[in-house]
Amino acid sequence: MRSQIKLGKIFGIEIGLHYSWFLIAILIVTSLYAEFHKSNAAWGNGVILAMAISTGLLFFASLLLHELSHSVYARSHGIPVKEITLFALGGVSQLEKEPATASIEFWMAFAGPLTSAAIGLLCLLLRLIAGPAAARAGTPLIAMLSWLGYINFALAGFNMIPGYPLDGGRMMRAIIWWKTGEMDRATRLASKAGQAVGLLFIIWGIAQFFGGAGVGGLWISFIGWFLLTAAGESYAQAGLKQAFEGVTAADVMTNDCPALDGNLNIEHFVHDELLRTGRRCFVITQNGRIAGLLTPHEVKEIDRARWPYTTLSDVMRPLEDLHTVPPETPLKNALEIMGKEDLNQLPVVEDGHLAGILSRAHIVDYLRTRAELKV
Ligand SMILES: [Zn+2]
Repeated sequence: MRSQIKLGKIFGIEIGLHYSWFLIAILIVTSLYAEFHKSNAAWGNGVILAMAISTGLLFFASLLLHELSHSVYARSHGIPVKEITLFALGGVSQLEKEPATASIEFWMAFAGPLTSAAIGLLCLLLRLIAGPAAARAGTPLIAMLSWLGYINFALAGFNMIPGYPLDGGRMMRAIIWWKTGEMDRATRLASKAGQAVGLLFIIWGIAQFFGGAGVGGLWISFIGWFLLTAAGESYAQAGLKQAFEGVTAADVMTNDCPALDGNLNIEHFVHDELLRTGRRCFVITQNGRIAGLLTPHEVKEIDRARWPYTTLSDVMRPLEDLHTVPPETPLKNALEIMGKEDLNQLPVVEDGHLAGILSRAHIVDYLRTRAELKV
């Protein structure tokens, strides 16, 4: 889930929106409008619309605070956070690695529902302070505080459901991890619980729909379907991690990137090497030493008319600019680097010499082979 609209940074963490966010924003504002209209028609349409929009905005602010509490806790415990994305069903924090211990995982997950419950409590306390007279009069502020109070409690409650990747599921994973010492097994158990919760939501939603709840029922099913998918993906990922156990970069790297002289021109390279062999990765040498890597991506950037006059050394990615790993690097860590930097190839370098290349395509082959033999 990546942001498509960037909103800016809070505490150095990028905040963004996914397009699906607009769907829920419209849904929330229109349903708030209808609700306020029904309960307080005397306010007039202008006030009701303004109230619906500002209550909606405050709701998203409280959602963001929930997500920020996860992210800020994560960052203060050594887990970098790439960004927070708000989408149709809430928010996600993109953590760049897994928590180091079960206790960090537990408190990182618990921070979110605690924050939501605290916001809920604050809203209801403010309503109490405003006094029973104001509550009876049904002022717009009171209606707003009540709604925000209950919705934040609901948010805390929903997130505490023990199904991974909900916060409650993460806490469940942390507890199993702490008891058994096996993180991957804990992830698989908590993901199974998440799939079960997702299924229950789907069934419940369909029942509601046929019971006359209308769109609300479909919405519950949709949340269930999303949970089911996300939990299934987490389950598969935990399996992947197990397949990577004890495997190093040296085991999976390939040595079949052909070496070419840096003085060749691109025209020659494209027709005689790139198109003829279909390979996507070439090692460029200068005076017999490895100088860099060349993929179709770099060639694409160069105007076709200049191909005969541009050498491979001119366009290659020089070795010193590339992320590299030593051969003994665990494959899991190498993949983390490739994911974080969005790389398709990662050179494996030993004592300044190229030992091989890790490529996504080859890692996929490796996994396919293992899956075929079910090991
Ligand atoms: Zn959360």
